[in-house]
Amino acid sequence: MSEKALLKVNDLQVNYGAVQALRGISLEVHAGEVVTMIGGNGAGKSTLMKALSGLEPAATGSILFEGQDITRLPGHLRVPLGIAQSPEGRQVFADQTVRDNLMLGAYHRKVSRQALDEDIEAQFDAFPRLRERQDQMAGTMSGGEQQMLAIARALMAKPKLLLLDEPSLGLAPLIVKEIFAIIRGLQQKEVTILLVEQMANQALAVADRAYVLETGRITMQGAGRELRADPKIRAAYLGSH
Ligand code: ATP
Repeated sequence: MSEKALLKVNDLQVNYGAVQALRGISLEVHAGEVVTMIGGNGAGKSTLMKALSGLEPAATGSILFEGQDITRLPGHLRVPLGIAQSPEGRQVFADQTVRDNLMLGAYHRKVSRQALDEDIEAQFDAFPRLRERQDQMAGTMSGGEQQMLAIARALMAKPKLLLLDEPSLGLAPLIVKEIFAIIRGLQQKEVTILLVEQMANQALAVADRAYVLETGRITMQGAGRELRADPKIRAAYLGSH
């Protein structure tokens, strides 16, 4: 099983000075899977995403993507390999239009303008609200719309692996529902996703497999539905006993 992993992380450690944010974690993501990493505040979820996209260096351990060791590869060289991230807090380019944000998502692809326009149309089909707002400055949109844009922008890179960092953060419950419906739609299209979330209930419901991260260590793993039914998970993350 592990030989075919699209992403394989082995004993990864990341430190911020004396703070050990990731204390040796190992995980796998296979093509076509939605895998989630749940964990509370400060568990290390964003640090994991930053390590995968090359924004934080690994102290020890390794990251393999399609069997290639990318542990020391700079972030901008990971995007062309097929790793794209929708970052925590969306981080859209506020002073650029929706359409320009989408174009920027494809900055590394050497394809014609026409091909890019077609890809943008495909994103507009998937996210009709972005079509309506294509000439609007991204910073003037609602949080939910910006989240959709961040996901669509990452998809413009045509990633083999989509990293979603807390897409529900700061959004109203109805919008969170919409975001998870989008994730389900991507799952049906067999987009491979690693999703980190504090919204454990929704994340576990959508995930094929899941890991639980606690203070930099993976403490549980299993099928999304299994973990969702687990009494320890229910008590710690789902607010019921
Ligand atoms: P949240 O859901 O609150 O964003 P998280 O699970 O994403 O939490 P991280 O942001 O990865 O957690 O943080 C993991 C640990 O590393 C925390 O103890 C945090 O305080 C610490 N940390 C994160 N960024 C830095 C930094 N730049 N400098 C020092 N410590 C940091």
